[in-house]
Amino acid sequence: MPSATPLPRGPSHLALFGAEDLLRGPGCPVCRYVAEAGDRFLGWFALEAHAEASMITRLCQSLGLCPVHTRALLRQPGADGRMTAVYRYLLRAAARHLVGGTSPSGPCLGCARDAEAAQRVVDTLLTGLQDQDLRERYRDVGGLCLPHLRAAVPRAGRRLAVWLAGEAAAGLATGPPDPAAITGDHDADTGVRARLRAALPAVMPPAAALGCGICAACLAGALADRDALARAAADPGRPAAGKTRAGLCPAHLRDACYGPAGRSADPVTTDRVLAEESERVAAWLAELASPPELRSAFRKPRGKPGSECLACEAAGAAEASQLTAIAGLFRPPGLCLRHVIALRRRDPRSAEAVVRAAGLTTQVVLGEIEEALRKRTWAYRHEPRGREMTAWQRAAALIDGRVYGGGPPGPL
Ligand SMILES: [Zn+2]
Ligand SMILES: [Zn+2]
Ligand SMILES: [Zn+2]
Ligand SMILES: [Zn+2]
Repeated sequence: MPSATPLPRGPSHLALFGAEDLLRGPGCPVCRYVAEAGDRFLGWFALEAHAEASMITRLCQSLGLCPVHTRALLRQPGADGRMTAVYRYLLRAAARHLVGGTSPSGPCLGCARDAEAAQRVVDTLLTGLQDQDLRERYRDVGGLCLPHLRAAVPRAGRRLAVWLAGEAAAGLATGPPDPAAITGDHDADTGVRARLRAALPAVMPPAAALGCGICAACLAGALADRDALARAAADPGRPAAGKTRAGLCPAHLRDACYGPAGRSADPVTTDRVLAEESERVAAWLAELASPPELRSAFRKPRGKPGSECLACEAAGAAEASQLTAIAGLFRPPGLCLRHVIALRRRDPRSAEAVVRAAGLTTQVVLGEIEEALRKRTWAYRHEPRGREMTAWQRAAALIDGRVYGGGPPGPL
């Protein structure tokens, strides 16, 4: 009888032997490595880590993951049973925060792992690029995408940084702009975001008409994000002489370029957005090549392009003004727990009604989660299943409304 396949003991780090391995195929080596490391993390979570005490403790500290990583967990096969159990712990932690007046701390575990993987691979690559032979190969495979170039420049020695900037500038100058080189690799979440954005209402509905499970602040942010993205994709004309228009972050650039089916149906818009970004980056690269600016780039590691984003800023401002409007209302609209806690941090007195309502909603969803878990046990498996079986999706939206892009919870 064949033995069972052994489960992994941990999120085995990908073997990283040297820069030579990283430069075996075309495309940005950091994007490729980080994507593979991310897949391994998600696989390990699904197989084993979701039931480990240390993982649950970490998740409770940060009250789950960021929207992108949460969506990845919710879309995994078998997520319903797994995430129902995970959200029982997260909702209990959320209830403790609401009662105790505390806030979750700690970054998204998935983002922290991605950043760690990216740093590891950038350092390996930079060490390898001291070797002239590898520089030839770097050129052949197309080199780093621009977001990862920005991460690499402050970690490289001055000479290597100038060489990297020169290579990128030469790449930008030849041929039409390449979306993957300018925005980083197209990730699976881009298509999900596009679908969620397409399902948003045309304008903000009145508070009384907000559906169940919708966070008013997340919806306002999502609408502002969508509209800012549409404005950036429309042809706004060239900025006035001597002025540069703020750009988009890599994720929003990808959103402007890709639709649910991959490449956007409107290549004219895509090409215009990419051409604008490539102009902005070319100016930054030209500055980098001169020593004083290079030194300032070391001080400001993120550099100019991509460090401010029209769509992110518009979403943040809309969320903040929605929270201001809600504070102190006698009958406040629904908010996700992330926004309830943010409102309480800003103004504890006027948030009292909101916190009370959020505590009640949390207990209702927690009750549904407990019921779903009961029906998943062997003894009660034949009982008819109802609405409680999708409580894990409502729990995700209750904790952070951005998981469903400001829209109602449901299948992703
Ligand atoms: Zn990359
Ligand atoms: Zn994350
Ligand atoms: Zn929210
Ligand atoms: Zn952005």
